[in-house]
Formats: sequence, structure tokens, C-alpha cells
Amino acid sequence: MKHFTLIAAGMVLLSFFSCQNKPEKQAGPLDGTDFQWQIDQFADVRILRYQVDDFDSLSLKQKKLVYYLSQAAVCGRDITFDQNYKYNLLIRRSLEAICEGYKGDRSTDDFKKFEIYLKRVWFSNGIHHHYSTDKFVPEFSSAYFTSLVENTPRELFPQEFEAGFVEELIFSPVAAKRVCLDAGIDLVKCSACNFYEDITEKEVEDFYAKMLDPNDPEPVSYGLNSKLVKVDGKLTEKRYHLGGMYSTAIEKIIYWLEKAAGVAENNEQKETVESLIKYYKTGDLKEFDRYSILWVKDLQSQVDFVNGFIETYGDPLGRKGGWESIVNFKNIEATKRTDIIGKNAQWFEDHSPIDDKFKKKEVKGVSAKVITAAMLGGESYPATPIGVNLPNADWIRKEYGSKSVTIENITYAYDQAAMGSGQLEEFAYSPEEVELAKKWGGLANNLHTDLHECLGHGSGQLAQGIKGDELKNYGSTLEEARADLFALYYMLDDKIVELGLMPTLDAAKAEYSNYIRNGLMVQLTRIELGKNIEESHMRNRKLIAQWCYEKGKADNVIEKKTRDNKSYFVINDFAKLHKLFGELLKEVQRIKSEGDYETGKALVENYAVKVDPVLHKEVLDRYAKLKLAPYAGFVNPVYTLVMKDGEIADVNVEYVTDYSKQMMDYSKNYSYLPTIN
Ligand code: ZN
Repeated sequence: MKHFTLIAAGMVLLSFFSCQNKPEKQAGPLDGTDFQWQIDQFADVRILRYQVDDFDSLSLKQKKLVYYLSQAAVCGRDITFDQNYKYNLLIRRSLEAICEGYKGDRSTDDFKKFEIYLKRVWFSNGIHHHYSTDKFVPEFSSAYFTSLVENTPRELFPQEFEAGFVEELIFSPVAAKRVCLDAGIDLVKCSACNFYEDITEKEVEDFYAKMLDPNDPEPVSYGLNSKLVKVDGKLTEKRYHLGGMYSTAIEKIIYWLEKAAGVAENNEQKETVESLIKYYKTGDLKEFDRYSILWVKDLQSQVDFVNGFIETYGDPLGRKGGWESIVNFKNIEATKRTDIIGKNAQWFEDHSPIDDKFKKKEVKGVSAKVITAAMLGGESYPATPIGVNLPNADWIRKEYGSKSVTIENITYAYDQAAMGSGQLEEFAYSPEEVELAKKWGGLANNLHTDLHECLGHGSGQLAQGIKGDELKNYGSTLEEARADLFALYYMLDDKIVELGLMPTLDAAKAEYSNYIRNGLMVQLTRIELGKNIEESHMRNRKLIAQWCYEKGKADNVIEKKTRDNKSYFVINDFAKLHKLFGELLKEVQRIKSEGDYETGKALVENYAVKVDPVLHKEVLDRYAKLKLAPYAGFVNPVYTLVMKDGEIADVNVEYVTDYSKQMMDYSKNYSYLPTIN
């Protein structure tokens, strides 16, 4: 499972890469101020960079390990393209040929549109939108495409290239959606993803139903690593392994994993990597489970990784694993923070403003690891999750547990990029509020997340006879509200400073202002005019902000101000707002503990769902003027070996500023698959 952010923020367009070699700019320093977070924007996408700023704190051996795993992480990029659609590699390579060899005028609007289309194909690992999975079409005409082809040397195109065919793939309505999820149609036939060929949904279901043994307590994830096809009328799995489908890319992945095994941090990790290698060699799903168990049990190693056919969102039937990799290492400082919170879990529970009878007598703090991403690959690149919880096999989760991680340098990059976007300045009332947010917003937001995840959800207990599902469709909104309120309440408690989690309570003030501003205004930018709030995290934020705004009106706790016809929500009394958070937490906990559906329903319906249309329109208009793209992805850093006397003396990390150049580099240096697989 993975968690994505939908933070919408960014900067305006910087520059176009013009499908021509140009010198790479050196990135700014690592102090977080002069660093250029956003390096490109096109269509509905922004390209950001993340920093691996504690990389130098790793030992040489660990750096080598990161290096080898990172190489393995980029070697599977072609697999993702091919899994997404059978002809993606053909299309990508054809477009790259034009990008490289087109002899015509590159300064025209049409050529710029061509560049944007190629950037989108790179971003989505194919011709379908990475999020909606709808096929996107170029803004240039098919006649222009023909002229591009005619003015590009034939030898640059892949052997399989045939202009008419590729033109049809790009411009016609074939393969309109990558993953169909509409009930009532054949999901397999309707989806363009490359996991099945010439078969029906029913044939797939029957094929795998036969394999499943309901009495097997340790069932493998049947079908996870294969394409299902028909050979001479018979259903057959084309397995992904050495000697099987995607063999040439898998061979390279194995090569780098073997190097990684040689510099593993300890024997357990070595065994884990070797098990993964064995799985890649054989395609045996039993071996994959053995690897997953070894991996989930390894809590000692600082360097860690995901590599393989993991998540199944790309298959309408949720069976086939998309290839991905995330190389990372534990952020020791930030994990100290979650450790402190975990160790003091009982104190927080005992001092919570909720009714004593709903407090847990004995709290078990959840330890979640905070990590630094060092390399993203396959499905996790360039669009990447901010949190991951693996493995996915239910029986392994039950028997051995799972690893839950927050990728903090990715979240940090989002925060930093948002600061340069103008969004904060647009919706914050005063320069002081902006200043506070810039200074403390990132830290405070992370602490909020830690308190929410490590303690909030786990706190409190149900009354006798209450099962926990009484709140039905309002349950998840109220549960998120409970966890958020727990975090918000404690943010402004001296204990936080005492434990060293924040240097000053000013950080809490930044979080309070951000939360109210977001809950009442900024998050409305993601909702179409005329629509209500549906998503439970968004409802939760609206519920808390709106409730506190209304309950605090008599004391002017939160004040709505207007300036130049623009609305702002300003907190006048932080201490009183802190008290209001406590009061609402007490009530939401009671609702949950007693399973009080009616009161829960009223709370959500009255405060969380409806949007004031006048304010909504104002917010959307103000947001539109900022010209921000709603989606974001990342370029990877580049690691290079520093050699001395024939030995690796160090590993350098560099930050690139050219998205297209990175994509072309990967296509040239890490592309191992045939065009059609
Ligand atoms: Zn939550």
C-alpha cells in the first residue's frame, strides 16, 4: 500500500528543454534556502527535486550499498513502460528519435507541443495519464507528426517503427484507458495495460480460481509476476524472471543486487537480498514470500529498499504487480522523534482531554520509521508516494507484521516547493503569518503527522459492547478528526518542548494557522465549484476548522477578515483555540467510544460537507491566478563513484536541474528491453 500527497502547489513555468544537448547547470547549496526545488512545469505537472542531505553521514560501505541498489532501481524502467501498455516502448523510442534527430525548425509552437507530449509520456511511463489512467493526446496534429518523422533520419527510429501505425497509436481512440474500473464491462478487455492479451475477465478469474487452495494458510500471490496470454488456444503465464519475460532487464537488476549483497550491512540483510536474487532468477513466488518475510523482519539495517513487482493498482483485477523500486535509509534524527513519542505514549494518553473512562490503561506506541529516499524507480518514478506500508500479502502481515515508513525528504521537498509558489502569500493574512509558516511549517507538519500516526489513531478505548463500526459512513471522517485533534491539541503543550520535539511553541502556532487556513480555504482548490466535500481527510479538516470557527465566534478566536475583496481567516487567540481542539477531541472520542451514530452524523453533515459557494468561487479564482499544476513528480539525484588506486573511495551525490536530460540519459544508458516484448 502506498500513500500519496495531493498538496497542490508549485511555481510558474521556468524553461523548456528543447530536445537539444545543453550544459547542465550545477544545483545550489544544500542549505534548503537557495536550493531550487522546482525545475520544470508542463501540462498539469510540476517536476521537483528531493535532497538526500544526510547521505554523507553514511559509512563508505553503506554508500556503496545505496549506489548498487540505486543502479538496480533504474534498470527496470523499461519494464514499467511495457507493463503499462504493450506499445509504450515503441512510442517512447520513436518520440526520442525525433527529439534527437529532427532536422526541421525547433522554435515553432508545434515543436514545443511535441516536447510537452514527450515530457508527459516520460512522466506517466507511457501514453496514459499517471493518475486518471486516461490516454492523453498531443496538442499538435497528426500531419505535423508526419512531418516530424519525415525530417528525422530513419536509422534513429526503432526497427519496428512504422509511421502509420505509431501515428494511429498516438492519435486514434484505441487503448483509451489503462485501467478500467467501471462495473458492468469486461475490465480486462477494456484496459490497455499489458498484463493480459486476447482474453476475457472471466477467463482470467477462472484461471486463477483453479490455482487457489482455500485450505492453504500461506498462499502465494498467484499471478503477481506474469502476463497471461493464450498460446494455441491455451491460457499460459509468461513469467517475469531470468530467461522469461523481461529477462534482459532482470539480468541487469540481478547484476547490481549481487553487488549489493556483497556490501550488505549484516547477514540478515545479505540473506534478504540473496533471496530476492533467487526470486528474480526463478520467478518462484514462494521465494518472493520468503524474501518478503526476511525483509519485514530486518529492522536493524539503516539502508533499506523496495525492489520488485509489488503494487497491483495497475491491474483492473488487482493481481499483477507493477515493477518499482525505492532505495532509502533510515533518518536517524527523525526516527528519534517517533521513538520519543512512542516511549511517552502513556503520558500522552493519561493527559488527554477525553473522559477518563475512554482512556487506554496501557498504551502500546506504534514505532514508525522515518526514511530518506535515495533513489526512485519504475512505478515510483517520477510520481512517488510519501509513505509506504509493505508487504501486501495478508497472511505475511498477520504472521510477521509490516513495515510502515514516511518518506520525509519527499514531504520536505513538497513543502519547500510550496513556499515558492505564492500560495502561502495569497491565503495568509499577514507577513508575520507567512514568516512563521516558512520558519516552522515543515517541522510542525511532520510532528503533527507523527502524533497523528503514532498516537492519535491508537489512543482511546471503546465502551463495553461497542464494536467500532457503529459510525458507518461517517466513521472514517470522525476517525481522522480524532487523530488530527489529538495531534493539534498536544502541539501547543509545554510537554512537546520539554521532550525536545520542538524548540518553541511558535512552531505550534504555525501549524494552527496552516490548519485553519487549509481547512476553511486552501483545500477548496481541489474541489469543483458547486460540489460538496467528499473525501474523508478533507471532510475532517473542514469539520475541525469550521467547528472551531463557529464555537469560538463569541470570543473572536478565529476572525474572518476581508481586504481588497479577499477573505482571510486569522487566529486571534491560540490558547483558546487549543482549548477548543481539546473540547472537540473529547466529544469525538465520546462519539466513537459510545458508537453514537446520530451525533456523529450531525457533526459531519453540519460542519464538514457543505461549502459556501461564494467563498469557494473566490478561492478558486485566486488559486487560478497562481497558475499551479496539481500533480508533481521528482527527478533523481545522480550518484558517482570516486575512485582511488582502483578502489571506491567515496560516492558523490549530485542534483540535476534538467528533467528531460535525465529521461534521455535513462533511455540511453538504462534501457535493456526489446521494443516489443
Ligand atoms: Zn489518519
